[in-house]
Amino acid sequence: MTTPRLFIVIPCYNEQEVLPITAPMFLDKLKSLTQAGKISEDSRVLFVNDGSKDRTWEIISDLARQDEHYIGISQSRNRGHQNAVLAGLMEAKDKCDITISIDCDGQDDINAMDAMVDAYLDGCQVVYGVRSSRETDTFFKRATAQGFYKFLAMMGAEVVYNHADYRLISSRVLQEFANFKEVNLFLRGLIPLVGFKSTSVSYSRAERLAGESHYPLKKMIALAVDGITSLSVKPLRLITGFGVFVAFVSFIGVLWAVITALLGKSVAGWASMTCIVCFVSGVQLICLGIIGEYIGKIYMETKRRPRYIISERTWEQD
Ligand code: UDP
Ligand code: MG
Repeated sequence: MTTPRLFIVIPCYNEQEVLPITAPMFLDKLKSLTQAGKISEDSRVLFVNDGSKDRTWEIISDLARQDEHYIGISQSRNRGHQNAVLAGLMEAKDKCDITISIDCDGQDDINAMDAMVDAYLDGCQVVYGVRSSRETDTFFKRATAQGFYKFLAMMGAEVVYNHADYRLISSRVLQEFANFKEVNLFLRGLIPLVGFKSTSVSYSRAERLAGESHYPLKKMIALAVDGITSLSVKPLRLITGFGVFVAFVSFIGVLWAVITALLGKSVAGWASMTCIVCFVSGVQLICLGIIGEYIGKIYMETKRRPRYIISERTWEQD
């Protein structure tokens, strides 16, 4: 096998503080992998500017001018982390043999890349980076993130535990993945669906080197909802199950009402009536909301809007 050409795909959104620190780190890693003879000399660090409002794109363009190993594409506007990663992967898939996607804030240990490339050379097509510990995360971030994976699993959306979007994917897998046309993107749940031989590599997650997280609780909840609705219909089944349960209880209630009426013992049951009406209407509204969430997703899917739009590249297209 010839040495593979690697593209490191890095989404960047308003990262002017951290990019000047981490960009040379990625380049050093690329060079050390090249020197070790694991990847080819024409490998690249591919930055995806996700419609940043600060100087991120200028920094990327400058880097590309300084060293040919840096290249960059820019999305026409901010579309979110998942779409930015997808744009980078789709851009890379015809140009290289393997891609590694990683955040640009230095939180994911770049030294895990050696093990990832080794696993690829051993025949794995997908290598998941898995966090071995979360000691450096705040208690809140850790608790919400753990809850995120647990809740996802409960709702039938199987994902690799503690794996975010740091992973190696071969272009072979990406060619197949390109046929997954969904707009509702949840990469860490979709990539396992493509199949092929995979493994995982563990690393410890560090603190952000500079700048701030763009994933507050609100975005995490949105990502969890996207993940569940894109991978599983279990919430809909839970509704059905719950409906059956409520119907059963109601049946007993009806029997009870009829019997007490026949025995002439019926009383003015205002409290029990009110409770039942309130409870059942609350449950119905929640169920409607869940169904609505799926209908909303269907609506977005039927539009088939483009998942990313690349407005600029640091190189001339052929
Ligand atoms: N990111 C992006 N678009 C967004 C939000 C984030 O491309 O709309 C990028 C960001 O630049 C970083 C990665 O996604 O490289 C992860 O974001 P962040 O570090 O803020 O999330 P956290 O690590 O706190 O979950
Ligand atoms: Mg981060």
